[in-house]
Amino acid sequence: MNWRQYVKKYGLIEWPYPVRYGEEREIEADVLVLGGGIAGCWAAISAARKGLKVVLVEKGATVKSGSGGSGCDHWLNTPHPGTDVTAEEIVGWELEMTEGYCNALSRYIAARESYETLLEMEQMGGVIRDLKDEFKGAPFRDEKTKFLFAYDYKSRIHFRVRGSTFKVALHKECKRLGVKILDRVMATGLLTEGGRNGARVVGATGLHCRTGEFFIFKARAVVNGLSRHQRNWCFSTEIRGNANFRPTQIVGDGHAMSWRAGAEFTMMEKSLPTSFASGNVFQPYSHGNGINTWVPCTMVDANGKEIPWVDRDGRILKTVEERCMPAPGQRFMGERTQGYTHKRPELIPDLEERIRKGEYTLPLYADLTGMPEHERRVIWGLMVGEEGKTRVPVYIYYNEAGFDPARDLLQSYMFLGGDPMRGSVRPQDRTGGEIGDAGGLVTDWNLMTNLEGYFAAGDALFAANYHYHAAATGRYAGRKAAEYAEKTKFSPIDRKQVARERRWVYRPLENRDELEWKELNAAACRIMQNYCGEYKNEELLKLALISLRELQEQDAPRVCVDNPHKLMRTLEVYNILTCNEMIVHASMARKASSQILGFTRLDYPELDPPEWKKWILLRNEEGSIKTRDLPLDFWKPLKENYEKNR
Ligand SMILES: Cc1cc2nc3c(=O)[nH]c(=O)nc-3n(C[C@H](O)[C@H](O)[C@H](O)COP(=O)(O)OP(=O)(O)OC[C@H]3O[C@@H](n4cnc5c(N)ncnc54)[C@H](O)[C@@H]3O)c2cc1C
Repeated sequence: MNWRQYVKKYGLIEWPYPVRYGEEREIEADVLVLGGGIAGCWAAISAARKGLKVVLVEKGATVKSGSGGSGCDHWLNTPHPGTDVTAEEIVGWELEMTEGYCNALSRYIAARESYETLLEMEQMGGVIRDLKDEFKGAPFRDEKTKFLFAYDYKSRIHFRVRGSTFKVALHKECKRLGVKILDRVMATGLLTEGGRNGARVVGATGLHCRTGEFFIFKARAVVNGLSRHQRNWCFSTEIRGNANFRPTQIVGDGHAMSWRAGAEFTMMEKSLPTSFASGNVFQPYSHGNGINTWVPCTMVDANGKEIPWVDRDGRILKTVEERCMPAPGQRFMGERTQGYTHKRPELIPDLEERIRKGEYTLPLYADLTGMPEHERRVIWGLMVGEEGKTRVPVYIYYNEAGFDPARDLLQSYMFLGGDPMRGSVRPQDRTGGEIGDAGGLVTDWNLMTNLEGYFAAGDALFAANYHYHAAATGRYAGRKAAEYAEKTKFSPIDRKQVARERRWVYRPLENRDELEWKELNAAACRIMQNYCGEYKNEELLKLALISLRELQEQDAPRVCVDNPHKLMRTLEVYNILTCNEMIVHASMARKASSQILGFTRLDYPELDPPEWKKWILLRNEEGSIKTRDLPLDFWKPLKENYEKNR
């Protein structure tokens, strides 16, 4: 029985909150922060420290919302007094790994400010050291500072942290500083000076996801901490779940509203096939990922035969500790196994082939039993215990079921097919924003977008990723937004624009009540699979735009909305449709194929020709698409620009 049949038979369950559609609340802030994830909380704290009135708008519950809400086990890329690796070198490895398609500007800000940010995290109550001496004497522990490190025990730029304490501490600090937190409010649109596209951002609108009330925010400066787009190619309406890696609240609302207001984006054409986004595989994350959380776990086959780890040169690493030490001549290791210079050890890369030949027998197992005790405890106790998606379903439940890492093996497919986050799936099962670096907002060195007064941080930025980056850029953007707000007057809200936004928010209530929002999302994904999938050409992309437009005009008004929650879900899918259009326009603008962007144009098959190694920026100017190019290294020179602007 599907949901509609259920409702027909048993009737609707009564909505438990008072419904106040159309009632308005008007709120004023010096700095308005949209999104209460890692970047948003840090931005709010940073702005509130300057004594300004800060309002934070969050669709979920700030105390645990967002990608970093339930945990974080690794805090990456952090120069500090205990290492000689510099911020320039760290950005260097990211540039190498991405062949230049890296937001070096925001990564550099993050690397420069990450250590201070981490120490402030501790002052607020986040646990960043081994104060209980659980890992005394371990090779990944610094005995003086009690910091724990991951992946590279020599250079020590990646910290192991108890990130499940972070969001709670950030939330508490926001409250202590007097930040007005509005939970369960979806930011729905930006308000601009005179209601004009491309003009200064002077506020925003919102919808209460439980009561349906409408919010009008007036602000001197606005920070976007709304993360990125998801569910563009894949969406499962069935029991497997939503098939997205980041939380379900994250769909690209921030991208869509910024696009409508005229903000500039880049890299939206990037996509990758991934099991994370696929609706056709069993929840692929299983018991955690093999590229971060489980490193450097010993793996064995069904007969107990150990699978070797090798360094970047294919040298077999005999001890567990060697798996976390740089290869001969290697300065330091990044967090990933791509590239060569900073490549981390991995399991033998031809494992799949050797399984096929019968050298190893399936299933494979993670075998913590024979590992040094501190390695066993740090993987099972700290990493699996602190990583957001594994803390409850794996660490807590398996412990309760009696799993003992000193005795039991854990069956695993995570190491098969190389990088498990990009394991082989159908080519059309693609992701844009679920994992890795994704398309997003372009900013200057103040992290201000092309729209005056409108700042961005964290995963909302193009080619952004990671917790340390969201924290440090959020902290920086909050500071910059506060500086801007201090010297800027409020601008009047354009009431006609408010009326337009209000109409957009409530229009679904007039819908014809025939479809579920999930069905609309699934249809939008099918369009992307068919016309903007693994292979693209001009004709297909034109068909994609036509089909998306038809879906918007004919089917979007058919979605059933019978409570404020469903109204929010419906608006989310409308935003997904907008993000899909952005992806198609970006795909039309790049007339060359690109390996690193996962981008194949059959009509322009040459891979990464030099003249196309550039950023293509897109913005929507009153419905017409404007593009311009920037060189990949437009941020140059890093150090000087940072020091001039910080
Ligand atoms: C399971 C998991 C584990 C991870 N582990 C690590 C790790 O160990 N180390 C690491 O470096 N990185 C890790 N990452 C990545 C890292 O967590 C993210 O890059 C980072 O949290 C992004 O922060 P953000 O503030 O930009 O976005 P988020 O923290 O995702 O916050 C976005 C917020 O905006 C809210 N929001 C969205 N739309 C609206 C709207 N319309 N109105 C109001 N609010 C809205 C969301 O509810 C959310 O709270 C992990 C990610 C996941 C999903």
